[in-house]
Amino acid sequence: GSKNGTFVNDSAVHQKALKPGDKICMGRVILKFDCRDLAEQRAYEEIYRLATIDHMTSVLNKAAITRILSEEIAASLRDHRWISVLVMDIDRFKSINDVHGHLMGDRILQAVAKVLRSSVRRRDKVGRFGGDEFMIVLPETGRKGALQLAERIRSSIEKSACTELGVSEGLTTSIGVASCRAVDTDCDNLLEHADAALYRAKALGRNRAEHWMKARVHKKTEVYS
Ligand code: GH3
Ligand code: MG
Repeated sequence: GSKNGTFVNDSAVHQKALKPGDKICMGRVILKFDCRDLAEQRAYEEIYRLATIDHMTSVLNKAAITRILSEEIAASLRDHRWISVLVMDIDRFKSINDVHGHLMGDRILQAVAKVLRSSVRRRDKVGRFGGDEFMIVLPETGRKGALQLAERIRSSIEKSACTELGVSEGLTTSIGVASCRAVDTDCDNLLEHADAALYRAKALGRNRAEHWMKARVHKKTEVYS
Protein backbone atom coordinates (compact mmCIF):
# COMPACT_ATOMS: atom_id res chain seq x y z
CA GLY A 1 0.00 0.00 0.00
CA SER A 2 2.98 2.38 0.03
CA LYS A 3 3.43 5.03 -2.65
CA ASN A 4 6.64 3.47 -3.92
CA GLY A 5 5.33 -0.08 -3.81
CA THR A 6 6.98 -3.15 -2.34
CA PHE A 7 8.85 -5.57 -4.57
CA VAL A 8 10.00 -9.12 -4.05
CA ASN A 9 12.63 -10.16 -6.56
CA ASP A 10 11.61 -7.21 -8.75
CA SER A 11 7.86 -8.09 -8.83
CA ALA A 12 5.42 -5.71 -7.15
CA VAL A 13 3.58 -7.48 -4.32
CA HIS A 14 0.92 -6.87 -1.69
CA GLN A 15 1.38 -10.13 0.11
CA LYS A 16 3.78 -12.99 -0.49
CA ALA A 17 5.24 -15.96 1.37
CA LEU A 18 9.01 -15.54 1.41
CA LYS A 19 11.62 -18.16 0.70
CA PRO A 20 15.33 -17.97 1.64
CA GLY A 21 17.30 -15.70 -0.65
CA ASP A 22 14.33 -13.50 -1.64
CA LYS A 23 15.18 -9.85 -2.19
CA ILE A 24 12.65 -7.36 -0.76
CA CYS A 25 12.75 -3.83 -2.06
CA MET A 26 10.92 -0.95 -0.32
CA GLY A 27 11.75 2.47 -1.69
CA ARG A 28 15.52 2.78 -1.37
CA VAL A 29 15.78 -0.04 1.18
CA ILE A 30 16.71 -3.52 -0.01
CA LEU A 31 16.50 -6.50 2.36
CA LYS A 32 17.48 -10.09 1.83
CA PHE A 33 15.38 -12.74 3.53
CA ASP A 34 17.42 -15.61 4.92
CA CYS A 35 16.80 -18.65 7.10
CA ARG A 36 19.76 -19.95 9.02
CA ASP A 37 20.02 -23.05 11.11
CA LEU A 38 21.19 -22.67 14.69
CA ALA A 39 24.81 -23.68 14.01
CA GLU A 40 25.13 -21.16 11.19
CA GLN A 41 23.55 -18.43 13.31
CA ARG A 42 25.96 -19.16 16.19
CA ALA A 43 28.91 -19.01 13.81
CA TYR A 44 27.82 -15.56 12.57
CA GLU A 45 27.34 -14.37 16.15
CA GLU A 46 30.83 -15.56 17.06
CA ILE A 47 32.36 -13.78 14.05
CA TYR A 48 30.50 -10.60 15.07
CA ARG A 49 31.70 -10.94 18.67
CA LEU A 50 35.32 -11.43 17.60
CA ALA A 51 35.12 -8.39 15.34
CA THR A 52 33.63 -6.02 17.93
CA ILE A 53 34.83 -7.07 21.41
CA ASP A 54 38.21 -6.39 23.01
CA HIS A 55 39.34 -9.90 23.96
CA MET A 56 41.14 -8.90 27.16
CA THR A 57 38.52 -6.72 28.81
CA SER A 58 35.30 -7.90 27.10
CA VAL A 59 34.17 -4.34 26.40
CA LEU A 60 33.80 -3.04 22.82
CA ASN A 61 36.98 -2.61 20.82
CA LYS A 62 38.16 0.68 19.35
CA ALA A 63 36.55 0.20 15.93
CA ALA A 64 33.17 -0.70 17.46
CA ILE A 65 33.02 2.08 20.06
CA THR A 66 34.14 4.67 17.50
CA ARG A 67 31.42 3.56 15.10
CA ILE A 68 28.81 3.67 17.88
CA LEU A 69 29.92 7.19 18.84
CA SER A 70 29.38 8.45 15.26
CA GLU A 71 25.99 6.72 15.05
CA GLU A 72 24.86 8.10 18.41
CA ILE A 73 26.00 11.64 17.55
CA ALA A 74 24.04 11.47 14.29
CA ALA A 75 20.94 10.17 16.14
CA SER A 76 21.25 12.90 18.80
CA LEU A 77 21.47 15.62 16.16
CA ARG A 78 18.43 14.20 14.39
CA ASP A 79 16.31 13.94 17.55
CA HIS A 80 17.61 17.12 19.25
CA ARG A 81 18.99 15.21 22.22
CA TRP A 82 22.04 15.62 24.41
CA ILE A 83 24.95 13.25 24.14
CA SER A 84 28.13 12.99 26.21
CA VAL A 85 31.36 11.10 25.89
CA LEU A 86 33.83 10.11 28.61
CA VAL A 87 37.47 9.33 27.92
CA MET A 88 39.26 7.68 30.83
CA ASP A 89 42.97 6.90 31.24
CA ILE A 90 44.63 5.08 34.15
CA ASP A 91 47.17 7.24 35.97
CA ARG A 92 50.83 6.18 35.87
CA PHE A 93 49.96 2.76 34.52
CA LYS A 94 53.47 2.22 33.20
CA SER A 95 54.86 2.22 36.72
CA ILE A 96 52.10 -0.17 37.91
CA ASN A 97 53.29 -2.58 35.20
CA ASP A 98 56.88 -2.02 36.26
CA VAL A 99 56.20 -2.66 39.96
CA HIS A 100 53.60 -5.47 39.75
CA GLY A 101 54.36 -6.99 36.33
CA HIS A 102 52.33 -7.09 33.10
CA LEU A 103 50.07 -9.94 34.22
CA MET A 104 48.89 -7.88 37.15
CA GLY A 105 48.59 -4.93 34.74
CA ASP A 106 46.26 -7.04 32.59
CA ARG A 107 44.18 -8.02 35.62
CA ILE A 108 43.86 -4.36 36.53
CA LEU A 109 42.65 -3.49 33.02
CA GLN A 110 40.03 -6.26 33.33
CA ALA A 111 38.92 -5.04 36.76
CA VAL A 112 38.66 -1.44 35.55
CA ALA A 113 36.55 -2.55 32.58
CA LYS A 114 34.29 -4.45 35.00
CA VAL A 115 33.79 -1.32 37.11
CA LEU A 116 32.94 0.67 33.98
CA ARG A 117 30.45 -1.94 32.76
CA SER A 118 28.70 -2.10 36.10
CA SER A 119 28.55 1.70 36.47
CA VAL A 120 26.60 2.53 33.31
CA ARG A 121 23.02 2.16 32.11
CA ARG A 122 22.02 -0.40 29.46
CA ARG A 123 21.83 2.30 26.83
CA ASP A 124 25.41 3.52 27.46
CA LYS A 125 28.31 1.88 25.63
CA VAL A 126 31.76 1.11 27.04
CA GLY A 127 34.83 0.50 24.89
CA ARG A 128 38.59 0.15 25.19
CA PHE A 129 40.22 2.79 23.10
CA GLY A 130 43.64 1.20 23.41
CA GLY A 131 46.28 0.58 26.08
CA ASP A 132 44.97 1.94 29.39
CA GLU A 133 42.38 4.23 27.81
CA PHE A 134 38.63 3.60 27.80
CA MET A 135 35.71 5.45 26.27
CA ILE A 136 32.05 5.60 27.30
CA VAL A 137 29.29 6.91 25.03
CA LEU A 138 26.32 8.33 26.93
CA PRO A 139 23.28 9.02 24.75
CA GLU A 140 20.59 11.32 26.20
CA THR A 141 23.00 12.60 28.85
CA GLY A 142 24.04 16.20 29.41
CA ARG A 143 27.01 17.76 31.15
CA LYS A 144 25.73 17.34 34.72
CA GLY A 145 24.82 13.64 34.42
CA ALA A 146 28.05 12.84 32.60
CA LEU A 147 30.19 14.53 35.24
CA GLN A 148 28.31 12.74 38.02
CA LEU A 149 29.00 9.40 36.34
CA ALA A 150 32.66 10.30 35.78
CA GLU A 151 33.06 11.12 39.46
CA ARG A 152 31.31 7.89 40.50
CA ILE A 153 33.63 5.85 38.26
CA ARG A 154 36.75 7.67 39.45
CA SER A 155 35.85 7.05 43.07
CA SER A 156 34.82 3.37 42.54
CA ILE A 157 38.11 2.52 40.85
CA GLU A 158 40.11 4.26 43.55
CA LYS A 159 38.23 2.33 46.26
CA SER A 160 38.25 -1.07 44.54
CA ALA A 161 42.02 -1.01 43.90
CA CYS A 162 43.07 -2.11 47.38
CA THR A 163 40.17 -4.38 48.24
CA GLU A 164 39.75 -6.36 45.02
CA LEU A 165 43.11 -6.11 43.36
CA GLY A 166 45.52 -6.04 46.23
CA VAL A 167 47.34 -3.02 44.85
CA SER A 168 48.53 -1.27 47.96
CA GLU A 169 49.30 2.08 46.39
CA GLY A 170 46.36 4.03 44.95
CA LEU A 171 45.06 3.09 41.53
CA THR A 172 43.62 6.29 40.12
CA THR A 173 42.18 7.46 36.84
CA SER A 174 41.77 10.74 35.02
CA ILE A 175 38.62 11.39 33.01
CA GLY A 176 37.77 13.87 30.28
CA VAL A 177 34.11 14.61 29.60
CA ALA A 178 32.47 16.45 26.70
CA SER A 179 28.79 16.99 25.96
CA CYS A 180 26.79 18.49 23.12
CA ARG A 181 23.26 18.85 21.89
CA ALA A 182 21.68 19.25 18.49
CA VAL A 183 22.09 22.99 18.31
CA ASP A 184 25.82 22.86 19.05
CA THR A 185 28.41 22.72 16.34
CA ASP A 186 30.62 21.14 19.04
CA CYS A 187 29.16 17.71 18.20
CA ASP A 188 31.55 17.36 15.26
CA ASN A 189 34.50 17.43 17.62
CA LEU A 190 33.06 15.72 20.67
CA LEU A 191 35.86 13.17 20.99
CA GLU A 192 38.61 15.78 20.53
CA HIS A 193 36.94 17.88 23.24
CA ALA A 194 36.80 14.95 25.67
CA ASP A 195 40.47 14.29 24.90
CA ALA A 196 41.33 17.92 25.62
CA ALA A 197 39.47 17.67 28.95
CA LEU A 198 41.39 14.47 29.78
CA TYR A 199 44.64 16.24 29.01
CA ARG A 200 43.63 19.01 31.41
CA ALA A 201 42.72 16.47 34.13
CA LYS A 202 46.22 14.99 33.79
CA ALA A 203 47.85 18.41 33.79
CA LEU A 204 45.91 19.49 36.90
CA GLY A 205 47.36 16.61 38.91
CA ARG A 206 45.46 13.44 37.78
CA ASN A 207 42.82 11.49 39.78
CA ARG A 208 40.07 13.87 38.66
CA ALA A 209 37.36 14.41 36.07
CA GLU A 210 37.25 17.52 33.93
CA HIS A 211 34.57 18.73 31.54
CA TRP A 212 35.53 20.37 28.27
CA MET A 213 34.90 24.10 28.21
CA LYS A 214 34.75 26.35 25.23
CA ALA A 215 37.71 28.72 25.16
CA ARG A 216 36.57 32.25 25.80
CA VAL A 217 36.99 34.58 22.87
CA HIS A 218 38.67 37.73 24.14
CA LYS A 219 37.73 40.76 22.13
CA LYS A 220 40.84 42.70 21.34
CA THR A 221 40.53 46.47 21.18
CA GLU A 222 42.71 47.69 18.44
CA VAL A 223 43.95 51.24 18.56
CA TYR A 224 44.82 52.87 15.33
CA SER A 225 46.69 56.09 15.24
P1 GH3 B 1 49.62 8.84 32.60
O1 GH3 B 1 49.19 9.11 34.00
O2 GH3 B 1 50.21 10.04 31.96
O3 GH3 B 1 48.55 8.22 31.77
O4 GH3 B 1 50.83 7.80 32.71
P2 GH3 B 1 50.88 6.32 32.15
O5 GH3 B 1 52.08 5.67 32.73
O6 GH3 B 1 49.59 5.61 32.38
O7 GH3 B 1 51.12 6.62 30.63
P3 GH3 B 1 50.32 6.07 29.41
O8 GH3 B 1 48.85 6.14 29.64
O9 GH3 B 1 50.86 6.77 28.20
O10 GH3 B 1 50.83 4.56 29.37
C1 GH3 B 1 50.02 3.50 29.12
C2 GH3 B 1 50.78 2.25 29.46
O11 GH3 B 1 49.87 1.16 29.47
C3 GH3 B 1 51.85 1.90 28.47
C4 GH3 B 1 51.88 0.40 28.46
O12 GH3 B 1 52.99 -0.05 29.17
C5 GH3 B 1 50.63 -0.02 29.23
N1 GH3 B 1 49.79 -0.94 28.49
C6 GH3 B 1 49.16 -0.72 27.31
N2 GH3 B 1 48.44 -1.79 26.94
C7 GH3 B 1 48.60 -2.73 27.92
C8 GH3 B 1 48.10 -4.06 28.13
O13 GH3 B 1 47.35 -4.62 27.33
N3 GH3 B 1 48.47 -4.69 29.27
C9 GH3 B 1 49.31 -4.11 30.19
N4 GH3 B 1 49.63 -4.79 31.29
N5 GH3 B 1 49.79 -2.87 30.01
C10 GH3 B 1 49.45 -2.19 28.90
MG1 MG C 1 47.75 6.20 31.51
